[in-house]
Amino acid sequence: MSKILIRGARLLGGEPMDVLIDGERIAEVGTGLTAEGADVVEGEGRILLPGLVDLHTHLREPGREDSETVLTGTRAAAVGGYTAVHAMANTFPVADTAGVVEQVWRLGKESGYCDVQPVGAVTVGLEGRKLAELGAMADSAARVRVFSDDGKCVDDAVIMRRALEYVKAFGGVVAQHAQEPRLTEGAQMNEGIVSGELGLTGWPAVAEESIIARDVLLAAHVGSRVHICHLSTAGSVEIVRWAKSKGWDVTAEVTPHHLLLTDELVRTYNPVYKVNPPLRTEADVMALREALADGTIDCVATDHAPHPTEDKDCEWPAAAMGMVGLETALSVVQHTMVDTGLLDWSGVADRMSARPAAIGRLAGHGRPIAAGEPANLVLLDPAYRGAVNPADFASRSRNTPYEGRELPGRVIATFLRGRATVMDGKLT
Ligand SMILES: [Zn+2]
Repeated sequence: MSKILIRGARLLGGEPMDVLIDGERIAEVGTGLTAEGADVVEGEGRILLPGLVDLHTHLREPGREDSETVLTGTRAAAVGGYTAVHAMANTFPVADTAGVVEQVWRLGKESGYCDVQPVGAVTVGLEGRKLAELGAMADSAARVRVFSDDGKCVDDAVIMRRALEYVKAFGGVVAQHAQEPRLTEGAQMNEGIVSGELGLTGWPAVAEESIIARDVLLAAHVGSRVHICHLSTAGSVEIVRWAKSKGWDVTAEVTPHHLLLTDELVRTYNPVYKVNPPLRTEADVMALREALADGTIDCVATDHAPHPTEDKDCEWPAAAMGMVGLETALSVVQHTMVDTGLLDWSGVADRMSARPAAIGRLAGHGRPIAAGEPANLVLLDPAYRGAVNPADFASRSRNTPYEGRELPGRVIATFLRGRATVMDGKLT
């Protein structure tokens, strides 16, 4: 493998440094580096971060290849600066056996654009009744450590308790999609002033918060580890903050869209804004930003949820829930967290790489930029400003809420173990 010299990029937003990549690893970090025969990548004015890690991606394969495949999803991930993604289990068939998680893991290896770590289902068929083969998935070649019925909530307290107890044996974690099903029957959007005015069935904050409260208590009771997916309310932040203050092993994520968008957008009746959990209020958005800044929320996770046009381009009540997010996540985080002064670039590296890698027990990712470390890196231009054009997406789907919106920042290059998956903003 050839050598690559990234010259004069600001490491984690700090001082300009040179980084020499030799093969799969970082060989040297310093100033005034030279290397005979190395390809030089100009880093001036650019930021160098560890490759991003997503804890929450829907790659849709097997079963819904019309919306995304492992290949198209990992290409989208590379464009967004990601070097590893966790693939959620709500595929067809559901990833609830060693066979299915190994299939997804193998497809990820073949794609070559980004590492794919399969998430295993907590219950058979995501039906919430019987625990899936958690141990077999953990022992499989896919080495599953994160288990989730995402898309559905593990609402049975006994099943949740058993899952939490089971994953302790291999250092696993249960990632909960917190949605009390009875309180959200037929729910279409956040319950509040806007839902009242529009006459759409509301999705109360308490439906999320009551499950989170129960699950942090359960995790503490059995001494296990719980991760809360896509926090969306100020109340959820308060519960997680309280659980952490007790020293319990609780982590949480927030999506880029919940850091930026509010339920006021539902007034357009444009289903591109229909998502689970729903967009909340301005006060919730501000609480989520603050919690990500102070570390109460551990990480940003995209909840990249591709859907074909026919599933989104219909009447609000019939439209599928979800948004694509891999290719815009870093820009939205720059806009909401960095450009507002809430987080610096080393904070972004922590919340989008180091912490998600630690939560997912992912070796080789989220590492410091230092000699000897795997060369998983993203080089970005923070000065770039441009409107989002879904036609440019590498994802197979186009359901972005940011079409035409000007966002800052652009990924210039992504390196996966020393190999450029993206160069000059384009897939290699
Ligand atoms: Zn979910």
